[in-house]
Amino acid sequence: MGTVKYQHWVPMTCGCEIEFSFDEGTDWQNVQVIAQRTDAAGNVRKTMLCANHQNVPLSDIHATIWDEHKRKEAARAYILANVSSVTQTFTNADGSTYRDFKPGITFQVTFTGTDKNRIVNVSLPGAPTGTITNSIKTAFNALLVAINPLWSGKVVLS
Ligand SMILES: [Zn+2]
Repeated sequence: MGTVKYQHWVPMTCGCEIEFSFDEGTDWQNVQVIAQRTDAAGNVRKTMLCANHQNVPLSDIHATIWDEHKRKEAARAYILANVSSVTQTFTNADGSTYRDFKPGITFQVTFTGTDKNRIVNVSLPGAPTGTITNSIKTAFNALLVAINPLWSGKVVLS
């Protein structure tokens, strides 16, 4: 167990602001969300829950939001790696390459539900109609459940 560090987290997936401590040198180990504290400079740092997460206990809020982020990123990674009809290979200035969405196609995420039951809804505006077939959806769902069985039904590709 290392030194306790603090972080103020403004997630990209909702309107919460989370003040938490964790053990330095670990990968988000021993995360403790703090309702309010005053930092060394005298600034008051508060945790504020958004309307979508207002009933989640502070003990669970970090893991809840982090799980939403992981589901979103897993969905993006799956599509980039497996749905070649909407992606292409781009080349960096140094010659290395990466996979990204074709120009005009956007990876869009919206959420439905509240608290610990938010569902990640993924769509691809700009993709030709019919691109996301039922077989793609089936394979997508299988991969996400293989990553985490608790994700069953919690990421929807349309
Ligand atoms: Zn939130």
